Amino acid sequence: MTSALTEGDRLALGARLATALPTRWRTRFAPAPTGLLHMGHAVNAVYVWSIARAFGGSVLLRIEDHDGRRARDVFDAAIRTDLAWLGLHADNAALGYPETLRQRGEESAYEAAEAELTARAQLYACRCSRREIAAQQTSGADVEARYAGTCRDLGVPFAETPARRVRLDELTVTFDDLRHGVQSQVPQQQCGDLLVRDRHGQWTYQFAVVVDDLRHEIDLVIRGDDLLASTGRQWQLATLLHRTSLPTTLHHPLVTHADGRKLSKSQGDTGLAELRHAGWSGARMLGHAAWLGGLQESPEDLPAEELARLWR
Ligand code: GLU
Repeated sequence: MTSALTEGDRLALGARLATALPTRWRTRFAPAPTGLLHMGHAVNAVYVWSIARAFGGSVLLRIEDHDGRRARDVFDAAIRTDLAWLGLHADNAALGYPETLRQRGEESAYEAAEAELTARAQLYACRCSRREIAAQQTSGADVEARYAGTCRDLGVPFAETPARRVRLDELTVTFDDLRHGVQSQVPQQQCGDLLVRDRHGQWTYQFAVVVDDLRHEIDLVIRGDDLLASTGRQWQLATLLHRTSLPTTLHHPLVTHADGRKLSKSQGDTGLAELRHAGWSGARMLGHAAWLGGLQESPEDLPAEELARLWR
């Protein structure tokens, strides 16, 4: 497994973190309960908690179970067990939230945002299936599928399907990522009109995460490089929801296999629970993850209470 953060990158990032944030600020750890946590999640958790503890932030735990067809209670419980073993405690209660935030049961927040977009005619019903959209792609398999706008002006009746897309004008969205620097993205060219709700009526990740990061007043989003390309569209959506102050982002290197493949539980990569059952301590796991994430030079043990030292 490899990562790509050099010592110089880490120092530069520390310097930016020291000046980029307000005195009190919030970040979040936001796993989806669709599988067991693996090493990639541990690396993300080390970034989230070490940065929060070193630079005066709070961490919200939000289990992203927007997709009721794939979310499982056993994985939700496993996430909480893994975090307790790692000694990673979120600050939800101190911020006046339930110990674990979830998306299921928060319909009213998403419906309000949906209504806001509907009122301004930004939403339309879409009857295209994933397979149809894939069949329309002209670019290579390594390029993200772009929705060509087939249903945009068809006036598909809302009663026909719960699937909704939001019209994204062809705008260039610019943001300054703490690690990657200034980024310019044109979401309409990358992905086309975004799906807000799928044909099963499930809210999509892109929509739910925007609504939640705004209402939970997240100042800093810390996540892996695989979501860098999603940031522009999330900001464009947030702006359509009339939000002017957007979170800062930090996209960290992903831990991958030597051939560049992402880690995934479904591909048989070792889960944290397996290592725990094999006798690893939480401190060993955190130390290993910090090393893989490029935050310490060796995989030496790192107890949760000492995470802030990664930034000293
Ligand atoms: N829930 C998303 C995931 O598990 C992460 C969301 C985010 O950090 O924006 O991949």
